[in-house]
Amino acid sequence: GAETRQKRGSEYIDTPSDVDYVHTYLREYDVSHGLDGMEKVRSLLSLLPILNRAEGQTVVVKYGGSAIGAESVHDTTLQDVAALRMAGVRVVLVHGGGKHITALLKQLNVPTRFENGYRYTDQTVLDTAELALSAQVNKSIVQELARRKVSAVGVSGKDGGLITATVKDPALGRVGEITHVDTKLITTLLDAGFLPVISPIALGEDGGGLNCNADDAARAVAEALGAQKLVFLTDVGGILIDSHNTKTAVPHMDVKRALELMDAGLIAGGMAPKVRGCVHAIQSGVGQVSILDGRVEHALLLDTLGQRVEGTVITG
Ligand code: ADP
Ligand code: MG
Repeated sequence: GAETRQKRGSEYIDTPSDVDYVHTYLREYDVSHGLDGMEKVRSLLSLLPILNRAEGQTVVVKYGGSAIGAESVHDTTLQDVAALRMAGVRVVLVHGGGKHITALLKQLNVPTRFENGYRYTDQTVLDTAELALSAQVNKSIVQELARRKVSAVGVSGKDGGLITATVKDPALGRVGEITHVDTKLITTLLDAGFLPVISPIALGEDGGGLNCNADDAARAVAEALGAQKLVFLTDVGGILIDSHNTKTAVPHMDVKRALELMDAGLIAGGMAPKVRGCVHAIQSGVGQVSILDGRVEHALLLDTLGQRVEGTVITG
């Protein structure tokens, strides 16, 4: 039944070297989905021009803390990333992990205090954030990608001079505002066939570490790379006019409209740095920015194929 097939589907992804098994799986899939040879040819012909266009393009994906390892749905994001790589797309992952930081602070009994709704980041909080992001989240993504036969390399913004920042606001402590991105490390990894996985800890101009907003890090990296596309995978179906009503999602908007919504104060919380990032990225030459619901199965691939998926696409 469907359940067995789904289970086998994920097993297939985990063991692509098992050629016999893959063939059996594909045959079963064809039979159960009624795909004949000509249909395969047709879908191949419709996909090849899209894949051909995508080859060699740079796509930066912000993997949201809320979307990482969402248990409610089968997380297909890394499967999609693996597929994009097979199509020759230069994928760069930037991840967040606010929830993981909060959990580790609690687990280690690190005392924290809040300033105007923001957590004050003293050195101990920064060290804990670095553990959660650069060690736990970063390495688990690298490990999951390895299981899908993608050779990924986890780095933080501190590595190879990748991300430089200054203190954003002394009242917030070691929180960084990005001042410079050096793409050399990333392009070196991409050129050598590795997929860079970036955690948003920057090296401060004062020589210390700084915790940066991951949306902002993704935006800055995409701009510096001259990426064709920037995708934010989050836990909501795009930009909502009424943040409490998912039916008010806007499928497509231009920069002007995004600015209007921000001015009207309709973009709040974790959506604000994304929309600000969208506008800045488009104005800096990134061709398209998508804010997608990362909980939706294959959101990333659907968006790449130009299919409608829960989310907002922003263009110039
Ligand atoms: P991520 O981990 O992906 O960065 P965040 O929680 O930081 O996720 O940001 C997404 C959240 O922003 C949404 O879950 C929603 O609660 C909030 N939000 C505030 N205003 C809006 C809006 N206008 N449209 C969509 N989401 C909004
Ligand atoms: Mg966020």
